Amino acid sequence: MKLILFGPPGAGKGTQAKLLEAALGIRQVSTGDLFRAAISNQTPLGVKVKTILDSGRLVDDQTVVDLVAETLVKPEYAPGYILDGFPRTTAQAEALDAFLAARGERIDAFIALDVPEDELVDRLVNRGQGRADDTPDKIRLRLQVYRQETEPVFAWYRAKGQAQTLNGLGTVEEIQTRILHAIGR
Ligand code: AMP
Repeated sequence: MKLILFGPPGAGKGTQAKLLEAALGIRQVSTGDLFRAAISNQTPLGVKVKTILDSGRLVDDQTVVDLVAETLVKPEYAPGYILDGFPRTTAQAEALDAFLAARGERIDAFIALDVPEDELVDRLVNRGQGRADDTPDKIRLRLQVYRQETEPVFAWYRAKGQAQTLNGLGTVEEIQTRILHAIGR
């Protein structure tokens, strides 16, 4: 099972991806987590992307696509994976498609979590302890970047007949149940 969890910052993708790891026996691939790990380990990738993450803007497509491609070929991802925070531009969606097609693979489900913007801001502000990009001005910028660059990815998967939108409000368990139902589990 290869699943994409889609939605704006604060929609609950990371929380749900972690729960789904246990429920489905496949791994989460969070590009944000991979970048944050690279930054804390001060790898060349981390040094390259630190100021971008701190600013709330997007890392360039090639860097993200290379990172995802080198991650997904690892044996632990052979049973499948949950993509969280990728693809975030239509160029990334196209690159993912080409990567999968070359391997004779495809995405099984694309799930968008729908949460009103006021609720997103509340959640992100409350999460704000510890993440440099969870301050009010960075949150506003990240939501703007989402609307401009990331939202078109939804239409891209809708055109392929794969996009499903689920209500992202409720308890963590309720939302997990909705996702499992949407993917037929
Ligand atoms: P996240 O943890 O998903 O909110 O990602 C945190 C930050 O990492 C984003 O604000 C971007 O700077 C960077 N990032 C994560 N995933 C991507 C992606 N697919 N494309 C570009 N930048 C990304």
